[in-house]
Amino acid sequence: MDYLARQRRLQASLSERRLDALLVTHLPNIRYLCGFTGSAGALWVTPAKCAFFSDSRYTEQAHAEVQGAKITILRKALLPSIGEWAARKLRGKTLTIVGVEGEHLSLAASRRLSRSLSGKCRIRESSGLVEQARLVKDADEIQAIREAVQVGGGLFDRALAMLRPGVPELEIASALESAARKAGAEAMSFETIVAAGARSALPHGRASQALIPPSGFVVCDFGVILHGYCSDRTRTVWVGQGTAEARRVYTAVLEAQLAAIAAVRPGIALEKVDRAARNMLKKKGLDEYFTHSTGHGVGLEVHEAPRVAQGQKDLLQAGMVITIEPGVYLSGQWGVRIEDMVLVTEKGCEVLSPGNKEFKAI
Ligand code: ZN
Ligand code: ZN
Repeated sequence: MDYLARQRRLQASLSERRLDALLVTHLPNIRYLCGFTGSAGALWVTPAKCAFFSDSRYTEQAHAEVQGAKITILRKALLPSIGEWAARKLRGKTLTIVGVEGEHLSLAASRRLSRSLSGKCRIRESSGLVEQARLVKDADEIQAIREAVQVGGGLFDRALAMLRPGVPELEIASALESAARKAGAEAMSFETIVAAGARSALPHGRASQALIPPSGFVVCDFGVILHGYCSDRTRTVWVGQGTAEARRVYTAVLEAQLAAIAAVRPGIALEKVDRAARNMLKKKGLDEYFTHSTGHGVGLEVHEAPRVAQGQKDLLQAGMVITIEPGVYLSGQWGVRIEDMVLVTEKGCEVLSPGNKEFKAI
């Protein structure tokens, strides 16, 4: 990963925002900028320099991982110590505007930071600067995502082999997670969803002790983290004898997903991709049961910008990686969701997690 180039791009954007410094505290942003993978740290970025701070648990790791930033290991609480350090550095200077990632900093932490900075510093909420840079993935990131998708996708067959009436959802989730670990996954991208029967109507029905019923849909939505990058994919299968209604709803969701994928290309507004899925479900009278957005960005975080949703006017760009995941949820009965990750290419898109998506009864 070319951390120095990322730092340079961020540094160039500071003056546009009229910031003298940016304090990066969101861990995925820190990882993106300097490579640190630990759980406690902060990166102070000025137009000329980067300084990284952590505590003594990470002395060795910080020196092994962090690139392009001077490392300081602090003995006291992170933010007040950084505030005092900055106050010393800035002594004698005129008013300094320090950007903070307000969406990732608690009110209490931001007050502590303010108190420790000298009176000549002003804190300014500057969320989204690094997230903006992370929207378009570079070649190294795309490669890491491809590998995560490959490992994640390969696990679905394991779930399929175990899916039968009477098996607890958790048993399937646990087998998936154990197989993911054996395949090299650092962690799951999020809590594994195995939602069967009436629970499949819960868009985020994480695996429970409920048993797979004799018939009904089972939604399996899970992903793995490899080299820090996430995968995210959903497949829905029917257990038992398939019914005409189950096929009808499943086919409608699949057509909606394919319509949205067909709409993905550079320059199209995110809301139009969302609308492509929604319109297809509307034709089948099912749009009122599609209760969430069509997709989201995936990278160092499983849910990151952009949002493929109604009202999102921003345009897709080549190099973005998003999910396309329409669903239909009939409360008390069952639900269907089909999700793939796609890479926006110069001409359209590439589905990163292909495979047969036709209605499947097992
Ligand atoms: Zn998912
Ligand atoms: Zn998703």
